[in-house]
Amino acid sequence: MLNAIIVFLIVAIVVALIWLRPILREIRRDRLKNKFFPLHWRAIIEQNIPCYQTLPRSLQQQLHGHINVFLAEKQFLGCGGLQITDEIKLTIAAQACLLLLNQKGNYYPKLKSILVYPGAYIVKTTTPISDYLVEEKQEIRLGESWYRDRIVLSWEQIKYDTKNWQDGHNVILHEFAHQLDGEDGSLNGVPLLDRQSDYMTWARVFEREYKQLCSDIELGLRTAIDAYGATNPAEFFAVATETFFEKPQQMKQKHPELYAELKHYYKFDPLEWI
Ligand SMILES: [Zn+2]
Repeated sequence: MLNAIIVFLIVAIVVALIWLRPILREIRRDRLKNKFFPLHWRAIIEQNIPCYQTLPRSLQQQLHGHINVFLAEKQFLGCGGLQITDEIKLTIAAQACLLLLNQKGNYYPKLKSILVYPGAYIVKTTTPISDYLVEEKQEIRLGESWYRDRIVLSWEQIKYDTKNWQDGHNVILHEFAHQLDGEDGSLNGVPLLDRQSDYMTWARVFEREYKQLCSDIELGLRTAIDAYGATNPAEFFAVATETFFEKPQQMKQKHPELYAELKHYYKFDPLEWI
């Protein structure tokens, strides 16, 4: 009888902990969001993220809160001898959290670690070319979002991209868009959307725009969205996100429906603030 009571109590505690976990997480996040944001952190962001200063005070404060949560939940690892500094962490976190403004913000639930190399890094890849042979190659990369729990970035590339805001290239926005895309378990260019009906509109707009980009690239035409977006629908979403935040004017002019779709998804209009 005593054993049965002990087992019952253990099961009850485990169930209560599982049930309470999301509630406790929200309480912890709310506390972090309201935590003091150090002045020297603010100074780093002001210096490194050009669009930060154009955001209204309320969005800046919202961004601070998201950054506090992001820094508390993600692990930063320096690779290739790179020492992780406040500047590196804040430059990455601020841009990653820009994608979360005005959204409920699930803080990239699958992402655990951010690996940062000083510059471009080399990755060994193997491709099967027959039943018995694989081809080994070395690829130079600037950033990648591994499907499960990590993102790999080059600090040199991050600095270049943040200095050249408005050129439509941003490795952080790109890799974190992949994270949003993968939240539902598949990397297919369709992130989690609010309502069931949103998927229909998304599919219609994104399919048409992706096909248009592929054909424009084949014809050698100049495009507002980078040619890399024509690789596959997942890359299209990531590249479209970079264009949306860095070249909103051009995107709205040339791809009004795509712009409206991304504005609806990100609940943010870069033309208003950036
Ligand atoms: Zn990509």
